[in-house]
Amino acid sequence: MAPSPLREPQESAPGPQDQLELALTGAFGWTQFRPGQRAVIEAMLAGRDCLAVLPTGAGKSLCYQLPALVREGLVLVISPLVALMQDQVEQLQRRGIAAACLHRGLGSGERMALLRRIRERRLRLLYLAPERLRVESTRQLLDDLLSDGGLVGLAVDEAHCISAWGHDFRPDYRRLGELRRLCPGVPLVALSATAAPQVRADIIRLLQLRRPLVQVRSAQRRNLSYSMRLRPADPLPEVLEALERCRGAALIYARTRRSVEQWAAQLNRAGVEAIPYHAGMDPESRQLALTHFQSQPRPVLVATVAFGMGVDRPDVGLVLHLDLPASPEGYLQESGRAGRDGQPAECVVLFDPADRVSLGWAIRAAGQAPTPGGAGTIDPDRQRLELAQRQLRRMEAVAEGEGCREQALLLAVGELVPPCGRCDRCLAQEADPRSRRDWSPWVQVLLERLQERGGRDLRGLAEELAARPGPPRGDEARWAWLARRLVQDALLGESDDGAQRLHLRDPGRRYLQQPWPLRWWLP
Ligand code: ADP
Ligand code: ZN
Repeated sequence: MAPSPLREPQESAPGPQDQLELALTGAFGWTQFRPGQRAVIEAMLAGRDCLAVLPTGAGKSLCYQLPALVREGLVLVISPLVALMQDQVEQLQRRGIAAACLHRGLGSGERMALLRRIRERRLRLLYLAPERLRVESTRQLLDDLLSDGGLVGLAVDEAHCISAWGHDFRPDYRRLGELRRLCPGVPLVALSATAAPQVRADIIRLLQLRRPLVQVRSAQRRNLSYSMRLRPADPLPEVLEALERCRGAALIYARTRRSVEQWAAQLNRAGVEAIPYHAGMDPESRQLALTHFQSQPRPVLVATVAFGMGVDRPDVGLVLHLDLPASPEGYLQESGRAGRDGQPAECVVLFDPADRVSLGWAIRAAGQAPTPGGAGTIDPDRQRLELAQRQLRRMEAVAEGEGCREQALLLAVGELVPPCGRCDRCLAQEADPRSRRDWSPWVQVLLERLQERGGRDLRGLAEELAARPGPPRGDEARWAWLARRLVQDALLGESDDGAQRLHLRDPGRRYLQQPWPLRWWLP
C-alpha cells in the first residue's frame, strides 16, 4: 500500500533535484512530489499504463499534467463534468500552461482556434467529456494526433465511473474501452479516489489496461474525525454547534434542492451567512456561490452532493451531511473534501432510519427524472437500482454500526485499518468502555409487540411503541433506531419492497425465550 521509500524525494534537504523535480518546480513552484505521484508519472513517461487510486487531495491531476509538460506533447484527459474540466483548465492557464476543454458549448470560431492550436502542437492538456468520443470529428482529431505523434498520454479521471459496481456509474464511460484500441501505443492512466478491489478490476478490464502499474494509496485520512448521529427533530442547534467548532470553510450537504434552500434560509435566520448551491440554480448564482466559497475566510455552503467535485479549498473544517449518504464510497469522497490541508477536520452525518426509504424512492425515481446529488446519474435498469439500494444499506450499516467509523468505511472499500481513535465511537469507547447501555428490556418490548402483531411496518411500530404507556420510554426515532439495529443483527427481517415491513426471525424468537444483555451505544 505505502509507496516504496526509495521512490520518495529527500525529506527536507533541497539538495540536487532530478529532472522531474526541476520540471515540477519550474511549472508549479512545488519542490516535492506527494506520495504516489512520482511512480505514476514515471510509468507514464516510460509508456506504461497505470491505475492510480489516490485519496482526494493527494494530487491526482499532477500525475498526467506533468508528463505533458516534460514530453512537450499533448495529454488527452477524460473527465465526467464540464464544470470540473473548466475549473482545471482555468487553474492550469493561471500557471501559464496551455490547456483547453473541448465541449459542446464551444462556438465554431473557438473550436477552429482550438483545433489549430492542437495541430500546431501548442496545447499540452485537452479535456474531453466521455460522450465526445461518440462524435466523428473527435475521432478524426484522435487519428490526426496519433499519426503525427503529438499525443503522449491518455488520462481517465474518476475512472470508477466505468464500473457498475462503483458508486457513480456513467454509461458513457463504457465507451472509453475503445480508447485502448484507437490509440494502441499511447500510455493510459486511470485515476480514482476510491475504488474497491472489484471496481479496480473492472477499471483494468474495461479500459483494457495492459499490465498496468497499480498504485494504491490508503484512503485513510488521519486528520478527519467522523461522527454519525441520529438526526433530532430539530437539528439546528447541533448544526450551529458544529459550525461554531469549525475553523475554516464549512460544507453542509442536503439531499434535495428544496432542503438546500430551506436550510440556507434557516441558517441565515439563525445569524449564519449560508449560501445555497444546487444544480437547479441559474449559472450566474452558482458561479457567485462558488466564488464566495473559494474566497471568503469562513464560508458556509449548503449544497447537494453535486457540489464539490473539483472544488479545491484546502481548509474545509467541516463536512456535515443532513441525510444518510448514498454509499460508503460516495461518502468517503464527499467527506474527503474536508481537511485537505492536513489540519484536523470534522465529518458529521445526521441521519434518520427513514432516510433509506426516501433515498430509495429517489433512486427509483431517478429512472425517470434525474435528481440532484449523484442519483441522477444512476441507470434506470433494475440491476442498477438494486445495487444502489444495496449500497444504501451498506452505508446504513456503517451509520448504525457499533465499531470505529473509519474502520467500517474503509472496510466497505476493501481496506482494513485499526480503529482510528478519533471518531465518535472510538472516543466514546475511550471515555468509558462500559458506558454502553443494555437495551435488552427495550428489545423484549419490541419483539413481543411484533410477535403479537405478526409483522408491522417500521414507522407504524415505532409510533405505536412511543405511544405505549409504561417503561421503557422513548420517542419514535429511538424505537425506529432500535428496530433497525435488530434488523442489522438479524433478529428481525425486513421486506424487500421498500415498505420496511418487519417480522420476527428465528434468532428473534429465540431471544424472546431466553434474552441476554445487548449493549449498544446510544445513537
Ligand atoms: P485530487 O484530484 O487527488 O483530489 P488535486 O489534483 O486536485 O487532487 O490536487 C490537490 C491539491 O494539491 C491541489 O491544490 C494541487 O495543486 C496540490 N498539489 C498537487 N501536487 C502537489 C505537490 N507535489 N506539491 C504541492 N501541492 C500539490
Ligand atoms: Zn474510530
